[in-house]
Amino acid sequence: MQTQRVDTLIIGGGISGLSAARRLNEVDRDFLLVTDRLGGRMFHNDDASMNFGVTYINDDYKYVTPFIGKGQPFHLSEVFAGNKQQIVPFLHPSNIKYAFPAFRLYFMLQRLRKELRAFRKESEHIPQHLLIENYPYMRSLARTNALDFVNAHNLQGLNEHYFRYAFGATCFADVKEASALFYLGVLFPLIVKTHMADLSGTYEKLTSGISNRIHYGKVVAVTRRGDTRFRVKIAGQQDWLAKHVIFSAPYHNTGKIYPVPASAHMKPATVMYVRGRKKPPYADKHFILLDPATSSVSLIWSQHGDKDLLLCLQPEPDLDPFYSEYKVLQKVDWKTAVVLSNEEWLPMNFEPNLYLAGDQNICGLEDSFLSGRCAANQIIENG
Ligand SMILES: Cc1cc2nc3c(=O)[nH]c(=O)nc-3n(C[C@H](O)[C@H](O)[C@H](O)COP(=O)(O)OP(=O)(O)OC[C@H]3O[C@@H](n4cnc5c(N)ncnc54)[C@H](O)[C@@H]3O)c2cc1C
Repeated sequence: MQTQRVDTLIIGGGISGLSAARRLNEVDRDFLLVTDRLGGRMFHNDDASMNFGVTYINDDYKYVTPFIGKGQPFHLSEVFAGNKQQIVPFLHPSNIKYAFPAFRLYFMLQRLRKELRAFRKESEHIPQHLLIENYPYMRSLARTNALDFVNAHNLQGLNEHYFRYAFGATCFADVKEASALFYLGVLFPLIVKTHMADLSGTYEKLTSGISNRIHYGKVVAVTRRGDTRFRVKIAGQQDWLAKHVIFSAPYHNTGKIYPVPASAHMKPATVMYVRGRKKPPYADKHFILLDPATSSVSLIWSQHGDKDLLLCLQPEPDLDPFYSEYKVLQKVDWKTAVVLSNEEWLPMNFEPNLYLAGDQNICGLEDSFLSGRCAANQIIENG
C-alpha cells in the first residue's frame, strides 16, 4: 500500500484532538485527524438524552461552550448523601456545625477559581506542566495529597459525610489517591453554577469545516523515520508519514502506540441509564451520592424522561439495594474515565515534534480542549 505524507497527524477524535484540528485549520496548516471513533468520552446516544461520558459543565467553561450546551441545572438543594444507615441532605440546619471550615473552604475555592481562570487563558499557548510553575496556589495544591489537605483544613466532617462521596462520583477514586487540586476541582459546584452537558449538535459543531480531514481508523504504531518524519501505521490501511504527531488518545491507548512518559493514575468507571422504581429511602430524591466505600454505585441522578443516570465504580453494580424493579437502558464501561495526575505533570512536547494532548494533567473537557489547542499552537509557533 502506498504511503502518504502530511505535516501533522492527530491521533484521536475526542475534544482534545478536535480542538487541535480546529486550531490548525484556522491557520490553514496541513493536517489529518485519525480516530477509531468520533467524540471519545463525549459519547452519547443519538438524541443526546443520555451522556455516557462527560456529565456536567460549569459556567467557568468558556472555551467549550460554543460547542457544548447547558442542560439540566444542578441544585445543591437537591443533593443527598447516603449510606446503608441514613440519607442526609447536604443543605440541612444540622450542618451549621461545619460553618467555620466551610467558610474557609469557600475562600480557598474562590482563590483557586481565580488562578484557574488565568491559567486557562495562558494554557492556550503554554503547556500545562510549564505553566503551573507560575501559579503557586495551583502548584501547591497539585503537590498536596487530598487527604492531607482535608486534615490540615479541618474538613474531616464534611469530607466524611459528603465530599468523599462527591469525589467518588466524579473521579471514581478514593480521596487519598488524588491531589488537593482534584479535590477542590470536584467541589466547584459549591461556588460555580453547574449543568448537565448538553451534547446535542456538539459533534457537528466541532467537525464543521474539518470533516474532510477526519479519517476513521485505528492507529497501531508510530515509529521514527530519520530525524524529520514519523511513520504512522493504521490497521488495514496505508501508512502515513508525518512531520508532527499529536497524541490525543486516552493515555492507556497512547502507551500501546508509542513509548510515552511515565504513566499517570487511570481510573475506570461504568455509566448506565436505568428506568425503574426506587425503594423508599431513595424514591423521592433527585441527586443521591452514595458511600464509595460500601456501594458499587456512587451516584443516582434523576433525569428528564423518567430515567436515572448511574455512575458506578464497578462494571456490574448491585442495584437491588436501590430499586425494587428496574431495567438497564444502556451501559458503557470506560477503561480510563479520568486520569489522576501525579505530582509531576507530564510534558506536552515530550520529544521533538511529538505532542501529548488530553487530560493527562488536568481532567475535564475545558482543559482537554485547551491542551489540544496548545499542542497545535506549539506546532504553529515552532514552524
Ligand atoms: C464517565 C465520565 C464522566 C466524566 N465526567 C466529566 C464531567 O462531568 N466534566 C468534564 O469536564 N469532564 C468529565 N469527564 C472527563 C472528560 O470526558 C475527558 O477529560 C475529556 O473528554 C478527554 O478528552 P480527550 O479528547 O483527551 O480524550 P477522549 O475523549 O478519550 O478522546 C480520545 C479519542 O481517541 C480515540 N482513539 C483511542 N485510541 C486510538 C487509536 N489507537 N487510534 C485512533 N484513535 C484512537 C478514541 O476513540 C477517542 O475518540 C468524564 C469522563 C468520563 C468517562
